[in-house]
Amino acid sequence: MSAFGSAGFINLVYERSEEKMSKQIYLDNAATTQMSDAVKQAMEPYLQENYGNASTAYSIGEDAGRELEKSREVIAATLHAKTSEIYFTSGGSESDNWAVKNIAAACKKKGRHIITTNIEHHAILNSCEYLEKLGYDVTYLEVDGDGLISPEQVMDAIRPDTTLISVMFANNEVGTIEPIYQIGKIAREKQILFHTDAVQAYAQIPLSVNYYPVDLLSASAHKFHGPKGVGFLYIRDGIDIPSFIHGGSQERGKRAGTENVAGIAGMAKAAEIAYGNMRKRVQKEIMLRNYLIERVMHEIPDAKLNGHRSIRLPGNVNFSFKGLEGASLLILLDEDGICASGGSACNTGEERISYVIKALGVPEEYAPGTIRLTLCGDTTRADVDAALVSLKRNIAILRG
Ligand SMILES: *Cc1c(COP(=O)(O)O)cnc(C)c1O
Repeated sequence: MSAFGSAGFINLVYERSEEKMSKQIYLDNAATTQMSDAVKQAMEPYLQENYGNASTAYSIGEDAGRELEKSREVIAATLHAKTSEIYFTSGGSESDNWAVKNIAAACKKKGRHIITTNIEHHAILNSCEYLEKLGYDVTYLEVDGDGLISPEQVMDAIRPDTTLISVMFANNEVGTIEPIYQIGKIAREKQILFHTDAVQAYAQIPLSVNYYPVDLLSASAHKFHGPKGVGFLYIRDGIDIPSFIHGGSQERGKRAGTENVAGIAGMAKAAEIAYGNMRKRVQKEIMLRNYLIERVMHEIPDAKLNGHRSIRLPGNVNFSFKGLEGASLLILLDEDGICASGGSACNTGEERISYVIKALGVPEEYAPGTIRLTLCGDTTRADVDAALVSLKRNIAILRG
């Protein structure tokens, strides 16, 4: 019997797929992250024996209620906020919708002008588009080639009828971190409310509401190793924002609906872990990120780094490679067990070139060949090395 005997062949296929599974390298942590065992363990009781409704008076309900308030304390402490300033939501998209639509509605007597940027997540952009249909005016500030907006641009866009400024803390595709402190100071001076979509920044970099003059801030658990479908909106005390979901009195009457206790407990545990190892993790991610950037720039011809070289998220790398299609490269990377993305999970299949890449003005020979690799605290040097080998080989193949 030859080596191609049927049993041998099946074994070979089996071994190959085993090998591929074990070599899976996940470099798409800006799209979502893996939950750690500690997070799953924190959720477990509320999926099992402590299934009570947090608003009830018997012990399994009270346990859930206590967990909810404990989680609120954990989240508030990470931001140096008060517990009364944290509202649990179903994630980043809901928090963004709540902030933009409800502040716009609450302030409409004062004015109907909103300032944002042209590289926000669709949760902001599409909320603004909706408001435009209702008769609001929106200014979309244009970022520079690094993905930055300047405080002066914000200053120049302010009108007497401006009621809200919403600028993302860090961009999800290219990782650029915006000048939130300076923009917040301007907003405060002009007495305009300031919201930041911090979904990519929260739990990735230190972020205190004592330091940053922000009034509202969105975050989402699944971007920092927590569960999907849960997040929060920080609303500074004293800001009177209307209810987003009408119904029961949960979340102090602002966001009705029986609370996702397991999800919230998981989010709090994920935040606790992320803040507990922040300094070491950030250092390690920056080191690996810079290593990846340097090697790609030196070893792969006609590569361009997108986003600011240093004012960027610790784990974000976004490249454009001249003369190839990013989608084809992603397929070849996947065949090598490497998970990366074209920029944003929310854009997949819609457009060949993302609106963020267009906004940065990436040259047209480069723009279609854009891919994003995002690291996390568990990413190793060996993972990055494997990605480099695969990138070099597959880019050479695609360039023929
Ligand atoms: C992922 C993301 C969102 C949406 O958060 P979900 O929890 O997935 O709804 C919003 N803004 C940014 C910047 C994001 O990266």
